[in-house]
Amino acid sequence: MNHHDPVTASHLAGGEPGSVVKVRPLGHVPPRFQGETVTSPALPDYAPIPRSALGPALNDQGYYVGRVERNLYWVTDGVYNSAFLTTDDGVVVFDAPPSIGGNLRRAVDEIAAANGVTNRVTHLVYSHHHDDHTGAASLFSGDVVRIGHEETRRLLQRDDNPARPLPEVTFADRYTLEVGGERVELAWHGPNHSPDNIYIHFPGHDTLMFIDVVNAGWVPIYNVNLSEDVIGYMGAPAIALSYPWTHLISGHLGRLATRDDVAVHQQYIADIEASAKEALAAVNPVPFYMAAGENAWAGVKAHLDTVTERAAAPIVAKYTGVLAAADIEEFTYTTTFQIMQSLRLDRGPSGPVHP
Ligand SMILES: [Zn+2]
Repeated sequence: MNHHDPVTASHLAGGEPGSVVKVRPLGHVPPRFQGETVTSPALPDYAPIPRSALGPALNDQGYYVGRVERNLYWVTDGVYNSAFLTTDDGVVVFDAPPSIGGNLRRAVDEIAAANGVTNRVTHLVYSHHHDDHTGAASLFSGDVVRIGHEETRRLLQRDDNPARPLPEVTFADRYTLEVGGERVELAWHGPNHSPDNIYIHFPGHDTLMFIDVVNAGWVPIYNVNLSEDVIGYMGAPAIALSYPWTHLISGHLGRLATRDDVAVHQQYIADIEASAKEALAAVNPVPFYMAAGENAWAGVKAHLDTVTERAAAPIVAKYTGVLAAADIEEFTYTTTFQIMQSLRLDRGPSGPVHP
């Protein structure tokens, strides 16, 4: 599916191939998408999703729009979240996930009509360049001022997709957006999930928007939630908590997050880090390399698989029933692998120095 396709029912149902929650166990045939026909594979019997991990019901159009505080609203399709601020001078939209797509426009129209304010979108803020949060940006065209980190602009330029117009207004470290008497503070505090992922603070709304690091009530998906900078990812929640806020608009899964959600996420990651350190120290690599003979990579695989298994198994057990989808083992295993590698390669030592 390319980015010029109109929003279809399969988007609204979260059924497009890029939807992050449509995971499948290893060894299963993936769903085939052929016109309107979708073949659903049988899924394993996973643990029930804790009710607390789920958000409000969606309307018939497939979205929910809710007030965060005053004139700040959030919109979800149950998997992806975005937000908008209504002001006397126009509407500011924050992210435009393609899965929400045209429903973002509907949500803005619905709230603007209910409150008797303009529905004219004047500003669009990008949290980061990833298409799954920006791919519907071109739905807001015309006089819209797009704002993003300078690296977001560079990466969007590189990826050259007309569905994601470049931000005209960019910043390196901080940017204060003032519209209709409201203030929004944008800040970049280093790479984490992506090189350009920013913190969006609403000081007048007791809210932070920070995407793709904490999934409210759910485990991160594969490989540290598909993050590029593991150390940056691990440190980001503490930066988020250093802001004053009560409501967190995180990128995913259909409800707002609390400070407690961030703390549980931090504990999950800290437990993985501690477990990975323990496993790295406890598993002696020598026998694996001896057994592998001249196939050094076979030794690497056997050693690292053993370390990962030892480190991840107790985390899966501890968080099943606490964080939704913790029993989808690939998520915790691949995240553990990434953190274990980062401990070796970023923090070191990667191994003993040969005498
Ligand atoms: Zn992302």
